[in-house]
Amino acid sequence: MKYHLVILGCQMNQADAERVQAVMAKMGYAATETEEEANVIGIIACSVRQKAIDKVYSKIAKWNKWKNKRNLITFVSGCILPDDHQKFLKLFDLVFDMKELASFPAMLSQYGVTTPVSNFSRLHDEELVEIAAPASVADKLNFAGAKPVSKVAAAPQTWEVEPIYNSNFEAFIPIQNGCNKFCTFCAVPYTRGREVSRSSADIIEEARQLVEKGYKSITLLGQNVNSYGLDKKGEELSFAQLLDALGQMADDSGRDVWIYFTSPHPRDMTRDVIETIAKYRSLAKQIHLPVQSGDDKVLIRMNRKHSMERYREVVGWIRELIPSATLFTDVIVGFTGETEEQFEQTRAAVREFRYNMAYIAMYSPRPGAASFAWQDDVPHAVKKERYAVLTGDLEKVAFEHTRKLKDETVRLLVRGKDKKDGYLSGHTEGKIIVRFPSDDESLIGSFVDVRIESVRPFSAEGELVTREVEA
Ligand code: SF4
Repeated sequence: MKYHLVILGCQMNQADAERVQAVMAKMGYAATETEEEANVIGIIACSVRQKAIDKVYSKIAKWNKWKNKRNLITFVSGCILPDDHQKFLKLFDLVFDMKELASFPAMLSQYGVTTPVSNFSRLHDEELVEIAAPASVADKLNFAGAKPVSKVAAAPQTWEVEPIYNSNFEAFIPIQNGCNKFCTFCAVPYTRGREVSRSSADIIEEARQLVEKGYKSITLLGQNVNSYGLDKKGEELSFAQLLDALGQMADDSGRDVWIYFTSPHPRDMTRDVIETIAKYRSLAKQIHLPVQSGDDKVLIRMNRKHSMERYREVVGWIRELIPSATLFTDVIVGFTGETEEQFEQTRAAVREFRYNMAYIAMYSPRPGAASFAWQDDVPHAVKKERYAVLTGDLEKVAFEHTRKLKDETVRLLVRGKDKKDGYLSGHTEGKIIVRFPSDDESLIGSFVDVRIESVRPFSAEGELVTREVEA
């Protein structure tokens, strides 16, 4: 029996998918890249953007048509808004919360491996369209005031299932799930519920096993990694203590590994987290600190719960304690009500903090988020213009860093073939992308040293100097 899994969205969904794959493998299913030959097809959904939600509806419409000709079971899990959840119940054979993953085999076997054509597949296309239609304005308004998922704290989490890692050199470890922040542009607290921290003993053990197996890059995942442990105050480690334990374990192993985390929240970032990163060679000197906007009033409307003064303080610690660290961020331009002056403040923040990379998004209302009900009043053309201007600012500040890499020899984790023919590419500890000419695919997954010959704002190119010698 074969299964096919479609994974949408962020790294958290990727980590969840690795656990779904493990459960399918345990049940005797083999993975297939081809939807057409699968007996079971699943999708790990994402509700962050309407495009991702639309994709779920278009996929299931196609799969349900196939059910007229052959037996097929479909399931959906991941980040699902309550409104879509109700609709998915009519479209998919199985809809489950990731926290119910341990019960998935029982659900699937109850369903039977070969199902008759579902009731739904007999519906007409018009009904499909109707069910997939976006929520009405009334629904939107209703939803903006909806309560977040509440039963989460007591429920088991996906991390209780051992994953099948999709890579043999880089892995993601979920350390926390959910979010208590309720940024007005984001639906995560409604899809994933409140923050729940995983046991530190389990995290350290998973990381230890990965380090022992020779993994080179490990990323700790959570919506707000640095509020790790706050839901179990007094019983669990703090985020800084967790990093300390991981740094100690990895350094003591004598192996070379870079341990990253994403994403922290500026409000919860403490000085001891930065001190701990500085202390251990295995804790990667790269920090992703979302700023979203450089204007305090916009930050209030975004409900970010921190000011620029607070953000500045955190960046000050990073520059003081880890001067070599690269700094990445997320920015939204054209958030509802953003004025030209407020956008200028964001430009000033990019110049002040000299980011190495910023993931800039033009604001678009996200279903389920509080701001979905607000007027999206910055015209698209203005958003595009702001996006281009900010990208130009970013290129300038990022280039100041990459320019310094010229003629230097940098260490690289080779991640795969580059788009440019005959080249491999990877990234430095600071996640600067570097490519070099080589067709030796055995280098993928190992550390190499590359001498940089040419640089661009966000990447560099060079010649291979040495390849890794395992410790
Ligand atoms: S901190 Fe804000 S943006 Fe991040 S997951 Fe929570 S609500 Fe969403």
